Amino acid sequence: VKTFSYEFTGPQWKGKTEFKTGNFINGEFVPGGSGKFIEYVIAQISEGNAADVDLAVDAAQKAYDTVWGLKTPGFARGKLLIRLAELIEENVDELASLEALDNGKTFAAARNFDVVEAAACLRYYAGWADKIHGKVIETSEEKFGYTRHEPIGVVGQIIPWNFPFLMLAWKLGPALACGNTIVLKPSEFTSLTALRVCTLISAAGFPPGVINIVLGYGQTVGAAISEHMKIEKVAFTGSTAVGRTIMKAAAGSNLKKVTLELGGKSPNVVFNDADVDQAVKWAAHGIYFNHGQTCCAGSRIYVQSGIYDSFIEKFTAHVKTLSTLVGDPFHPSTFQGPQVSQIQYDRIMHYIESGKSQGATLHLGGERHGTEGYFIQPTVFTDVEPHMKIVQEEIFGPVGVIAKFEDEEDVVRQANDTMYGLAAAVFSRDVGRAISVAHRLQAGTVWVNCVNMLNSQIPFGGFKQSGIGRELGEYALANYTNVKAVHVNIGTNM
Ligand code: NAD
Repeated sequence: VKTFSYEFTGPQWKGKTEFKTGNFINGEFVPGGSGKFIEYVIAQISEGNAADVDLAVDAAQKAYDTVWGLKTPGFARGKLLIRLAELIEENVDELASLEALDNGKTFAAARNFDVVEAAACLRYYAGWADKIHGKVIETSEEKFGYTRHEPIGVVGQIIPWNFPFLMLAWKLGPALACGNTIVLKPSEFTSLTALRVCTLISAAGFPPGVINIVLGYGQTVGAAISEHMKIEKVAFTGSTAVGRTIMKAAAGSNLKKVTLELGGKSPNVVFNDADVDQAVKWAAHGIYFNHGQTCCAGSRIYVQSGIYDSFIEKFTAHVKTLSTLVGDPFHPSTFQGPQVSQIQYDRIMHYIESGKSQGATLHLGGERHGTEGYFIQPTVFTDVEPHMKIVQEEIFGPVGVIAKFEDEEDVVRQANDTMYGLAAAVFSRDVGRAISVAHRLQAGTVWVNCVNMLNSQIPFGGFKQSGIGRELGEYALANYTNVKAVHVNIGTNM
């Protein structure tokens, strides 16, 4: 097993990080079965395979049968989750530095959003751990039933590279609170914070085998998890295309339960009566936060005709300012770092070319920022048509499209004209209108006069092809329990 060692020299955090980069199975870092490594510019991590998934499932099953599940009271599980949240908070600067280094997101965002929210999520689910219970349902004088919300057992989890640490927490929190044991695969592009957290998982006192991490590619490790006959549930966050593959694998193996958090093309609707300055600020955050690599990115901005010109003027000025804040993720004033990989960089540039060739107006940006690295200028297209690829497809980069609309009917139709349904936003000072439009938009989350608000207490997930099931909040608990009904007869009548 290799060791990753790195000295951060600031300006925001100075210090050393060091940990092993093997699979984490049964509480220990072990080499990948393939004997090969995934090469990062900065690290080498073990490449796992299907046999490693088998080992991890065995460890998880043993832990489930002996020290977790119904063997550990919810209170004790919650205490461990709280301890893990505390350890994350104690190491917040190191974890944020590592996340910025690995993913390219800014240190500031990683610290103040990803890592802080990850700890908050674990705390939130710690609170649930001893409050998961069923109901008593009386059916007659002599008969009643009661339900038990039992853990499922060994669950599989597969996560993406855009919020590596936060997605890890969203997955671990509810699954552990409900008493399941875990086999998780991080993205092959961003596995470092998951590995660092394994040392904190051990330090917090989780029994070996409760949380297992297998490193590797989707087509090998990811597929082995989704096809595994002893994994009864798989939770996936990633692209809609891979989500489809996972559902097929589940159907073709043991019909494991599936929850999917997939892509989006979220509309952002700005009415004439909106506070334009606020709408500009939020709309820019909606599309440019995390370099546009956000599943709920507000990538389609619809502006009502009465304020269209003033919105464009103010939005342009705002985005021009953001364009000066692209660069080194560790610099305190940076807003946007590099895209995560060459593949994503090429994909985004390809979409920008397609926007131009399909006849949209490139209003701002559209070029590489600087001469090296995967930096892309914040980009805005105007004069877009509904059929264009940049209007229909998820770009997953800092590219927004702005379109004009006339009235409510018109914008509801345009906003819902997508296969996705993850999120949407409405800007209006008229509460009645904002809420009635919020109810008509086909999306799992609608923000009113804000965007990108995510909170551990509030469910998140997609309508249409943006997913199945909900993460966060009380709703996520249902993903990780089986409801058992026990019928009891206390009488003598049939
Ligand atoms: P991806 O679908 O390519 O990969 C996600 C994960 O799935 C990775 O760990 C990958 O290794 C694995 N994988 C790939 N092929 C697989 C296969 N055949 N079987 C099993 N696993 C496989 O997505 P990505 O490029 O890492 O992330 C970007 C996508 O994720 C975007 O579409 C984005 O919208 C979506 N996303 C959604 C949410 C959400 O909550 N809805 C959150 C973050 C990202």
